Amino acid sequence: MRKKIVAGNWKMNLSSIEAMELYVGCAELPVAAGVDVILFPPVLYIDRLITGFPSTIKMGVQNAFHVAYGAFTGEISMQQVREIGACAVLIGHSERRLYFHEDAALLKLKVDAALMNKLQPFFCCGESLEVRKANDHTTFVRRQLEESLFHLSADEFAKTVIAYEPIWAIGTGMTASVEQAEEMHAAIRSWISEIYGEEIATNYSILYGGSCNPSNASALFACPNVDGGLIGGAALKLSDFEILVAEKTWITSN
Ligand code: PEP
Repeated sequence: MRKKIVAGNWKMNLSSIEAMELYVGCAELPVAAGVDVILFPPVLYIDRLITGFPSTIKMGVQNAFHVAYGAFTGEISMQQVREIGACAVLIGHSERRLYFHEDAALLKLKVDAALMNKLQPFFCCGESLEVRKANDHTTFVRRQLEESLFHLSADEFAKTVIAYEPIWAIGTGMTASVEQAEEMHAAIRSWISEIYGEEIATNYSILYGGSCNPSNASALFACPNVDGGLIGGAALKLSDFEILVAEKTWITSN
């Protein structure tokens, strides 16, 4: 069955004390029936959060390297991430592509390494404003998926999640309209159906990310092909996150 998911990407924010406070707050929130919550805190906090306050909340990391062990100063492997109790990894976030020059070939290796280590890849894709203005957004996103994700077998692919995150909407307050989000999500689902078949496409979760907040989440989550959100800024404020996971926000969703 297709899962509804609210994922919080904390990025490089919060002190250790603030992280614990927010995590405990998130763990105690009433969550809409059938909605999974997963947090992506700074990796160095994860162990302390999990052991300090055991909860059912799932944990993922914002980045990991594809090689298991070795001389890669500053990197953390998927294997090490799995060992600390995380179950997922963000791959292809636009900030990683932009600031750390992660290209399609590297992202493909990371997807493979994540699956090999039983981590769920949350694969991010999305176009720049320039690409959208040129009306090339669907072609662009399809290429991103073809280059780094669509090489997977059907069994492997079914374990992944796609987050459509138009770059122009991330952290800008400029959310995609319901029509823009639904158009891209429907296109992504149709490609999945074409490559992996209708059953996998029907059961597959596609998240929207980009200035999703309490004032627009309900309308976005109600789109037939939007299965939840990857949330940045609004995941750092408990009162906002509370609304994103609440029953009333999901009441009209598919
Ligand atoms: C993100 O960085 O994945 C994101 C969606 O950020 P924001 O919600 O702040 O736009």
